[in-house]
Amino acid sequence: MAAEPLHLTVLGSASPYPSADNPCSGYLVSHRGTRIWVDAGSGTLGPLQQHVSLADLDAVWISHLHADHCADLLTAYYGLLFADVQRSAPLPLFAPAGTADRLAGFLTNSSSTHTAQRSPVESAFQIRELYDGHQADAGTLRLTSRAVEHGMPAFALRVEADGSSLVYSGDSAPCQALTQLAGGCDALLCEADSAGGPMDGEKVHHTPEDAGATALASGAGRLLLTHVGPFLSPAEAVQRAADRYDGAVDYAAPGSSFTVGAAAL
Ligand SMILES: [Zn+2]
Ligand SMILES: [Zn+2]
Repeated sequence: MAAEPLHLTVLGSASPYPSADNPCSGYLVSHRGTRIWVDAGSGTLGPLQQHVSLADLDAVWISHLHADHCADLLTAYYGLLFADVQRSAPLPLFAPAGTADRLAGFLTNSSSTHTAQRSPVESAFQIRELYDGHQADAGTLRLTSRAVEHGMPAFALRVEADGSSLVYSGDSAPCQALTQLAGGCDALLCEADSAGGPMDGEKVHHTPEDAGATALASGAGRLLLTHVGPFLSPAEAVQRAADRYDGAVDYAAPGSSFTVGAAAL
């Protein structure tokens, strides 16, 4: 059987809150019949369903528990448990430690006369907690996660299938783990939240120049800029990243899709 490339669809890429025409971070990665939702930022559950229903989704992968990357898990839960979504098993959810308790904290039903009860989060999601070096298969996809630098538990993801590879930074400052994870990948989907300039405290994001440098250092085949911060324009971010990287640089515009891999046509 001929190798099939990976397909990336950008459901949203805004930071740190959705704009009128761009949800927060969320992506659909598909390969053959496998579909995974990578980050569930606010506003991405709607456009996700232009491509796949919650009933047919194979897995969800969450980089970290900032709301611009996970808020739509809350309403996905309602869809999975209290609506017309029929699944034979809970939806596999790869996410940082503590995700079940965080979701339950939002979804708990309580009244003045009853002790608060934890919502049946695990009836909706089969939660598998990520750790540095975590590997799992979802359908035809191999998923490898590395812990990255974001001032809180946060992960980057490498998706591989049929010899093709896509790496997503999540939110992170430049770091060795991300550069290693992205080594030789066909495409690096990298955040560029920071406009640069003076900073107080710990660095937790990439600037566009950082994204270009990470792509160069990792030998990525192309760079897709996402999570472009509120003090940058996409065009400026692409231009600044391209100053540090010789390969193609594109903006992950909402609604756009990319074919990723050696077999890309
Ligand atoms: Zn974040
Ligand atoms: Zn973010």
